[in-house]
Amino acid sequence: MNTEVNFASLGLAEPLLRAISDAGYTTPTPIQAQAIPLVLAGGDLLAAAQTGTGKTAGFTLPVLHRLLQDNRTPKAGRPRCLILTPTRELAAQVEESVKTYGKHLPLTSMVMFGGVGINPQISALRKRVDILVATPGRLLDHVGQRTLDLSGVEILILDEADRMLDMGFIRDIKKILALLPKQRQNLLFSATFSDEIRALADGLLHNPGCVEVARRNTASELVTQSVHLVPQKQKRELLAHLIKQKQWFQVLVFTRTKHGANKLAEYLTKQDIASAAIHGNKSQAARTRALEQFKSGKLPVLVATDIAARGLDIDQLPQVVNFELPNVPEDYVHRIGRTGRAGSSGGAISLVDKEEIKLLAAIERLIKRKIDRATAEGFVPSANPQHDDERREPRPGRNAPRREGGQGRPGPRSEPRTGKPANGRPAARSGPRPDATRADGGRSGQPRSGGDRAQAGARPPRPAGSNAPRRSDAPRAALFSAKSGGDR
Ligand code: AMP
Repeated sequence: MNTEVNFASLGLAEPLLRAISDAGYTTPTPIQAQAIPLVLAGGDLLAAAQTGTGKTAGFTLPVLHRLLQDNRTPKAGRPRCLILTPTRELAAQVEESVKTYGKHLPLTSMVMFGGVGINPQISALRKRVDILVATPGRLLDHVGQRTLDLSGVEILILDEADRMLDMGFIRDIKKILALLPKQRQNLLFSATFSDEIRALADGLLHNPGCVEVARRNTASELVTQSVHLVPQKQKRELLAHLIKQKQWFQVLVFTRTKHGANKLAEYLTKQDIASAAIHGNKSQAARTRALEQFKSGKLPVLVATDIAARGLDIDQLPQVVNFELPNVPEDYVHRIGRTGRAGSSGGAISLVDKEEIKLLAAIERLIKRKIDRATAEGFVPSANPQHDDERREPRPGRNAPRREGGQGRPGPRSEPRTGKPANGRPAARSGPRPDATRADGGRSGQPRSGGDRAQAGARPPRPAGSNAPRRSDAPRAALFSAKSGGDR
């Protein structure tokens, strides 16, 4: 790993350096250190890099720099840079990165993919768009409707090219390539190099610089992963049990919803496990405080949503817990990539309800391995876990119907990854069907599961009272209450 390089020495413009610093990055990842100078020099690039390596910033930063250096105002609907991705989720993520790193620049960006209305995208194309992030199917729809003009593309990026081919996009890609000006810079990113990818690269790239990085973290190697199959209602008890039993002193717990994050942090605090939730509804000051306490080891448990956790830069985080699995399998890789960095080993445990088995299967397909199933030694769930903590009224009989309590079953609509529908961005994340992530396979939209129902049935949180997180200078020792084992 190249430790001497810093972002300034790579020659990036000052507004980009500021955005990098705002994002909390201090050192370029290996792919960034290698790819950024090559892209800045204007050549083509062939990069072998996976999710989790920092590849997105690796191409976004130098592309923004180049567009800025030659800051011409493009005609409406005539982008200067085209980034093609296989899935809508990746497209949305990449465009978010473009916005994050380009926030101090006068450049504009837009994302387009199928499965959402085309009209907001058409409206957005009536304005200046410097950088277009798109999935192939919808892009071609726009070309067909003459709402998009690709004749001004100076830089083309194929992101996750192998997945695009796996998903059958080769014909679409060829059609798109035929619409682009001959003179342009091409960057191709792929995790794997099949003959098909090599053939595509050979036809596309001219004397490319080649960059190959060892994965900064991988889902399969550095991180010890396991799954506990557990009903949703028992998850929080199990989590408290695991934290105590395994004496985790720094654990990042992912929930799908902001509400779920709050409830869980509150529950853990009541179990004498100091914890805090961070998510978009918390003030920046509260988030910063919680993060600082967590980083310094004073706060052992941080409960976060995917969005809040993005950009968290914590070195050598030893433990990640997926309290709920993410809807998008790539998010699993991002989540567990928070641990096992810099060659250190880390652990990732997922608590999986039977409703989430499909999500688990999609994750296992993505990481190309089966995750070990684990059992929690000594864990005895209470008979009626929702009631023990949440209700003061007498318990109903064993067979009486139970009311759903705070955690509920999570749903995919809880925290949209992206915002403005006017930009053609999704109003919500896609549903749980793994193949639904195919960019143009869901023009009719996604199935939804009952997330909102769970939210509707939730009880309001109670004040934490005297159990507020405590500070401790000896975190390992002071975390746990005198009780041992389960906490029934
Ligand atoms: P990617 O491989 O592009 O999906 O990025 C993986 C994660 O690494 C993202 O959450 C980025 O925010 C984060 N990241 C990218 N570059 C850096 C960096 N230089 N330092 C720390 N984190 C980074």
